[in-house]
Amino acid sequence: MTRYDLHCHSTCSDGLLSPTDVVRRAAARGVDVLALTDHDELAGLAEAREAARDIGIGFVPGSELSVTWRDTTLHVVGLGVDSDNEALADGLDNVRRGRDVRARRIGDALADAGIPDAFEGALTYVTSARLVSRTHFARFLIEAGHARDMKDVFRRYLSKGNPGYVAHAWPTLDEAVTWIHGAGGRAVIAHPGRYKIDRGARRELFAEFRDLGGDAIEIISPSHDAAQYREFAELARTFGLRGSCGTDFHGEGESHVDFGDLPPLPLRVEPVWQDW
Ligand code: AMP
Ligand code: MN
Ligand code: MN
Ligand code: MN
Repeated sequence: MTRYDLHCHSTCSDGLLSPTDVVRRAAARGVDVLALTDHDELAGLAEAREAARDIGIGFVPGSELSVTWRDTTLHVVGLGVDSDNEALADGLDNVRRGRDVRARRIGDALADAGIPDAFEGALTYVTSARLVSRTHFARFLIEAGHARDMKDVFRRYLSKGNPGYVAHAWPTLDEAVTWIHGAGGRAVIAHPGRYKIDRGARRELFAEFRDLGGDAIEIISPSHDAAQYREFAELARTFGLRGSCGTDFHGEGESHVDFGDLPPLPLRVEPVWQDW
């Protein structure tokens, strides 16, 4: 059976390994087909594709797009996108510029909370000048002793309702799906179990996503437990959506699930790679 991993990050966003090293690690751990899906970025795809070719595994160019739906931030993974597509590339350039503005405001918010120079601190953890994320603030805050680990730093500072959180308007669900489809890709709702929305809203999200032409939902993810695998498999069938799977690997020590560690997609779900 071919082992797919369709969600992970490199140093082109908030991962700890270069695109080449991500591919090498995935291959060494038994992944047959890998998608690199850096946040709002396509810059690592050419390097990863080359590495995958050299090492002899399949490669799917992807990206994980940030979206604002109602008042919730969602992630939509695009799979099989053409990295030269202008509308997608320009759209993501814009999103990354928005990230720069947000990062300064996060720095200001943390200063107000008694932590000065966090913007400069976060920049020392940035690995691509093109993209700053909350993960870089998290690494700085942990290293500076303000929190124990990733979970703790998001709980205390960086998530909604906390002193270092800054609300941000990301693209709409419609824009994200349109960009991904325009670039020839498939749109996947990433880790749906992570969003703080109730069951009713989640069904409304899936219905809206399907009506926009969305393709799949991520069923197998470290963000989900076994009961959620079953729940999201059932919901995929109900809404006529396909299923996807991925480790969302960011790096050793930060991701508790490594390449090759996840169970396969449930058989009753039509996989997103069905007609690849
Ligand atoms: P951003 O896209 O800049 O808002 O940052 C979001 C990233 O922060 C996610 O992709 C994760 O890598 C990380 N993240 C968000 N929430 C948590 C959390 N509770 N624990 C660990 N990492 C998180
Ligand atoms: Mn991330
Ligand atoms: Mn995500
Ligand atoms: Mn991710």
